[in-house]
Amino acid sequence: MNDDPISGSCLCGTVKFTVKPPFSAFRYCHCSRCRKASGSAHAANLFVPRAQFEWSAGEDSVKRYDLPQAQRFSVWFCGECGSRVPHNVKTREDVLVPAGLLDGDPQMRPENNIFWASKAAWYVEPHERAFFSEYPK
Ligand SMILES: [Zn+2]
Ligand SMILES: [Zn+2]
Repeated sequence: MNDDPISGSCLCGTVKFTVKPPFSAFRYCHCSRCRKASGSAHAANLFVPRAQFEWSAGEDSVKRYDLPQAQRFSVWFCGECGSRVPHNVKTREDVLVPAGLLDGDPQMRPENNIFWASKAAWYVEPHERAFFSEYPK
């Protein structure tokens, strides 16, 4: 396995960072908070030890929202484009990296689905539907 750092960035490119393997965990989270915060069926959360995470640009454009009453749920996002960006996890020595921000292949693959009992009523596993390389024909 290769240990080269992988870069990541937000949609507009203001916020950039690098992460170095090995990673602590990689999971899809179907909890209602992750669904709201991502606007999607689930989050794809990669956990990276803090010492292996580095901001490379735009750290001062990062805005944050801490959900009142939540023990650890927090959303950090780019103040320019609104993309979610990595944040320090309060309860562990890791940074949570929304995996969709990565520009390279982290090699690791998601290990599991958590909060499966909270998944959206409309969630369908991708392989149950047709695939198109781009828009449907
Ligand atoms: Zn941005
Ligand atoms: Zn979640």
